Amino acid sequence: MTQVSAHPKHFLSDKVEHFTESVIREMTRQAMQYDAVNLAQGFPDFSAPAEIKRAAQEAIAADVNQYAITWGAKSLRSAIARQMLEWQGIEVDPEKEIVVCCGSTEAMIATLLAVCNKGDEVVVFEPFYENYGPDSVLSGAKPRFVSLRPPQTAGGEWTFDEQELREAFQHQTAQHHTKAIIVNTPNNPTGKVFSRKELELIRDLCVEYNVLAITDEIYEHILYDGSEHISLARLDGMRERTITINGLSKSYSVTGWRVGWAVAPPAITNAIRKVHDFLTVGAPAPLQEAGAVALSLPASYYRELADRYRTRRDHLIPALEKAGFRCYRPRGAYYVMTDISAFGFANDVEFAAHLVKDIGIACVPGSSFYKHPKDGSQQVRFAFCKKPETLDEAGQRLEKLRSR
Ligand code: GLN
Repeated sequence: MTQVSAHPKHFLSDKVEHFTESVIREMTRQAMQYDAVNLAQGFPDFSAPAEIKRAAQEAIAADVNQYAITWGAKSLRSAIARQMLEWQGIEVDPEKEIVVCCGSTEAMIATLLAVCNKGDEVVVFEPFYENYGPDSVLSGAKPRFVSLRPPQTAGGEWTFDEQELREAFQHQTAQHHTKAIIVNTPNNPTGKVFSRKELELIRDLCVEYNVLAITDEIYEHILYDGSEHISLARLDGMRERTITINGLSKSYSVTGWRVGWAVAPPAITNAIRKVHDFLTVGAPAPLQEAGAVALSLPASYYRELADRYRTRRDHLIPALEKAGFRCYRPRGAYYVMTDISAFGFANDVEFAAHLVKDIGIACVPGSSFYKHPKDGSQQVRFAFCKKPETLDEAGQRLEKLRSR
């Protein structure tokens, strides 16, 4: 027999060399290992609404247990179209413009696989939700980062430089051209809610350079201090070049259900449907039925949701500040980015390791939201989508950090 190389690398795709496993999910594992309060991964530790749990149980009992239509159950697609019209005034054809996926995570990667060619560039604001990096690599695209700069004053906003954004769009060579921009508003991890003026600038650049917008709006209902969520697709000139991504996870506290969707013009939807079909065939059928019920909850449900999260934010931030963190106050989503320079650690990873092992709180090291680890080396992110008693426990443990 001929002797051939059995070096492990021989069997692997080059693509996987370009990213690591998720730091966010790794921190949840460590939280369990050290019995720490998990303020790392963004998932609620309280119950999902009773009526939607009941709807899921009823769907299973009624034997909605086989594949739904690959691109989504009609009831859920109709509910998505109804909600987009009601909340954002966007008309969507549920037959031609929606793909229901296994979470917004699948919707995002199926979209990138459906629109990107090798050498395409995708503009991404940084710090960014960590999936966008590997998503770009797996779809053959190259991310081009544009900085979001932390607020200079307490209560200020994260901002970006217009010229830097323009240059990212202008970066065209024989091999590279800008295919899309990923926008995430309300934003993870910063809590920034993009303003109309900022979105109009993005719109103008997308139109001028013929670029798509892929907009992750999973936190659309989690808003504070009177901030308003504006869907990019609703701005003039954007409907035909926008893919809107959303899901059940964050609005209905069901992150484990894995039901999300992409909404796009018919030709793009067709391409996403093809990719989605061969990736996963479909999202869980009974949970899609329950999703249709969830999307029919009254407006008061969303007001209460945002209100509850505002209380949680205002519960955690003072405890963090007392312990020595500088907090960047979020206007939306359920994370708070913090500055850890006061603690004198060499970097965020060492700090997060100390926090989880010795203090008993898991957070996410800031570097996982940046291309260059050093840019996030004095930041960590906390999630506050937790029960008040969980946040109280975190507050008590933070006392230990203060007296250190
Ligand atoms: N979006 C959540 C976070 O940022 C959860 C991510 C995930 O693990 N799917 O923590």
